[in-house]
Amino acid sequence: MESITFGVLTISDSCYQEPAKDSSGPRLMSLIRAAFTNAQVVASVLPDERDLIQRELRKWIDRSDVRVIITTGGTGFAPRDVTPEATKPLLDKECMQMSFAIALASLKKTKFAALSRGLCGIAGNTLVLNFPGSERAVVDCFEVVQELLPHALSLISDNVKLVQATHEAMQTETVASPRHVCPHKTGAGDANDRNSPYPMLPVLEALDIILQHVQRHTQLEQQLMNLQSPVHIPPFRASIKDGYAMKSTGFAGSKRVLGCIAAGDGIEPHPLQEDECFKINTGAPLPEHADCVVQVEDTKLLQRDKYGEESLVEILVEPTAGLDVRAIGHDMAAGDKVFPQFDASPVVINSLLAAVGIQQSVPKPKIAIISTGSELLAPGQPAQPDKIFDSNSSMLAALLQQFGFDCEQQHVLVDDLSSTTINLDKLFDAVDFVICSGGVSMGDKDFIKPALQHLQFKLHFGRVNMKPGKPFTFASKSDKYFFGLPGNPVSAFVTFHLFALPAIRWAAGWQRAQCSLPVVNVSLLNESLELDARPEYVRASVTSINGELYAIVTGDQISSRLKSIVRADVLVHLPARSAARTTVRAGEIFPASILRNDFISNYKVSPDAGNLRR
Ligand code: AMP
Ligand code: MG
Repeated sequence: MESITFGVLTISDSCYQEPAKDSSGPRLMSLIRAAFTNAQVVASVLPDERDLIQRELRKWIDRSDVRVIITTGGTGFAPRDVTPEATKPLLDKECMQMSFAIALASLKKTKFAALSRGLCGIAGNTLVLNFPGSERAVVDCFEVVQELLPHALSLISDNVKLVQATHEAMQTETVASPRHVCPHKTGAGDANDRNSPYPMLPVLEALDIILQHVQRHTQLEQQLMNLQSPVHIPPFRASIKDGYAMKSTGFAGSKRVLGCIAAGDGIEPHPLQEDECFKINTGAPLPEHADCVVQVEDTKLLQRDKYGEESLVEILVEPTAGLDVRAIGHDMAAGDKVFPQFDASPVVINSLLAAVGIQQSVPKPKIAIISTGSELLAPGQPAQPDKIFDSNSSMLAALLQQFGFDCEQQHVLVDDLSSTTINLDKLFDAVDFVICSGGVSMGDKDFIKPALQHLQFKLHFGRVNMKPGKPFTFASKSDKYFFGLPGNPVSAFVTFHLFALPAIRWAAGWQRAQCSLPVVNVSLLNESLELDARPEYVRASVTSINGELYAIVTGDQISSRLKSIVRADVLVHLPARSAARTTVRAGEIFPASILRNDFISNYKVSPDAGNLRR
């Protein structure tokens, strides 16, 4: 598609003298390139000189390809600040509301935004925007205009085709920005949608998107499926029982005991008569001339020698060839496939590899956990009246451990855009997955999405139609993945199970059907529950009554109340409220995701279980 050109003009006496000092211009250029893949950028640095600024602006305005000019610097109250004065005479129309939008957003971040006199306006076919000089302000202002640009250009331009293509490209090719979503395209169209540019996706669609983007490690599967055993298991004829090894051609009756063979001993080469035997332990190698074992339970001790060792036993059953003997390679022969089919369970893989003598463990995805929030205190610190303890870090680390994954790093970040950006950037050098809680909602201190945008992550979605967990966010950049769990502990708990866990399992090579938690049907025990406008995942304890599963909700389900995970065996999937159905009642059956192995809290046998259904 055709490209459009942005002009980036840094206006600053000091940057003009020492261009290396200019961080705002380069920052603006990278924001533009990240947001609009079809953008070209021309850039220049000038001192605070009205004529020079005007001349450069005029030159760019006259170029047909330059559609947007952003100046940074010279908008303040100092005597040398003349950017608006240089800009104004060139404008055909002033765009006061755009300046107002920028000012409004900037004022939310800092009062000092009131000291910027920047203008926005149209000169010919070009939109000219004056941003303040600081890098931080440039980032904030760009965030505001980024989404307005497609519409602004469409209004200015006569070139309908270019505008349409640009608009389309901005929707589909945007790399680091949220998709440009027109208001009529957001979410379900309810009041909550108005302010979020993120469409609200159904849970299954969100999971599909995640699994489409997360790379599954198939090398391990291939490697294991091709693996042939280098050894026989067992490598010798092994006794299956504690008993007596003998020749099967002999008969029951008394036999002389020639000695004892324990596990780990060498293969006994001594010749053996039919009325002789060796005492033998489970797992010990059969003597060279024996072909069966009679278990100790089927024998009787007749005599001991002067050292107290057994010397004569009576064999009570008829010995038969191969009795209680594991043949060489019985469990696995050298050259056999070690894995009859793929099973990603580390328990399975590690133990089978060890059994054939291979010392290797399953590689696991590298994962870090982050909690965000300036209100967070680490457990163990003294309580403070205006702070809360960080429960999410501990919860997520324990969940990873419960599901057999490791947490490489844990961090707590304060609500600050630049430190969040820097820390995430650094963290992704070390790990592939970041599971983060907090900072993804609509608050003006929720910096996760902007930080990801600065790092040029693609935000695949930023809202899911579920309760709890609506602001759940997923972003990726090549093979680095970010899971933005909402900060409320129960929302983090639920979205971990429904999205982060399946993604990690998928990355680790699990089969698709096994990535999500297993689902069973449960009958509701609560008298009645109000349905929410969104599908809800309620925490519930499971009782088995006469072998059937019943679920009772674990009290107040508000997403901040972590107590609702106590004895939560399952997440019951309740449907969204509809005109036809606003409540659900005892006895109704719903699917439920099993949260833990010990998921049945209670077993009952009841003659009245059938009544619960009514
Ligand atoms: P946020 O998603 O950052 O808007 O946070 C939503 C709510 O969850 C707020 O009440 C936070 O104080 C709380 N919260 C955020 N992170 C944590 C955490 N790590 N542990 C406990 N509560 C948290
Ligand atoms: Mg927060």
